[in-house]
Amino acid sequence: MTITAVTGSASGIGAAVCKQLQEAGHTVLGIDRQNADIIADLSTVEGRINAANQVKALSNNKLDGLVCCAGLGVTAPSASLVISVNYFGTTELIALLQDTLAQGENPAITIIGSVAAVQQIAEPHAMTELMLENKEIDARTMADELGQPHIAYSASKYALTVHARRLAVQIGKTGVRLNTVAPGAVETPLHEASKNDPRFGEAVRNFVAPIGRNGEPSEIADAVTFLQSSNASFIHGSVLYVDGGMDAMMRNGNL
Ligand code: NAD
Repeated sequence: MTITAVTGSASGIGAAVCKQLQEAGHTVLGIDRQNADIIADLSTVEGRINAANQVKALSNNKLDGLVCCAGLGVTAPSASLVISVNYFGTTELIALLQDTLAQGENPAITIIGSVAAVQQIAEPHAMTELMLENKEIDARTMADELGQPHIAYSASKYALTVHARRLAVQIGKTGVRLNTVAPGAVETPLHEASKNDPRFGEAVRNFVAPIGRNGEPSEIADAVTFLQSSNASFIHGSVLYVDGGMDAMMRNGNL
């Protein structure tokens, strides 16, 4: 029996991942703020500990997979909440479950990043460095002072992807694989809200992938299900763009 925990399981990409993993034979433990096996608020330290404790109890301390999809977009109530959910809600949950995963059968973690991490505002931003230094309070303060949720979003996804690359190097020896899937625009409630936002809607609607359409949640779940399977047994520390060519476009064809 393969037991896999999935955050953000109640909606969009997370819900599609749960469906596909179940079809592939996994026992799925969904984690979300509502409509989930484990109800937890990943924006808080207590919520992350609560989620991890429930996963440990339900998996008998042997977890085979973790997929981190929970996230907030540019319409989140505050920029600081974007930082806490997207970055710390993922990195801290992984830290809390790392030992439990090391006990699993061919354990694997997939993080949902974003092609937004490629945006030039993300990499040099001081907020990125604060996240990577694990300074949640300082990163939250800076995010709210700046009051630019799109910068907080890109920075959170950039920091998350860098964290994943660094952690992959450390945890390879424990037998736990770790990869990032970076979606482009995907038709989910998060994306719908962004398209309708008066501040960002026009830019979001005009941001069309070379392939000429947005993705479906199942197309992201296809990649996640593959990375969580034994077919991906030598793939570790990678970033897989599932974005209809947006990354290639944004980098002007460069690596
Ligand atoms: P969604 O809004 O449909 O789903 C996100 C889920 O995360 C929701 O069920 C929500 O309740 C949960 N969540 C939010 N805050 C939480 C918290 N504090 N605690 C626990 N759960 C919480 O959005 P989606 O588009 O499916 O997004 C999934 C992931 O994909 C996110 O990390 C998002 O940044 C990423 N992503 C989405 C797109 C896109 O275009 N849709 C593109 C790139 C990356």
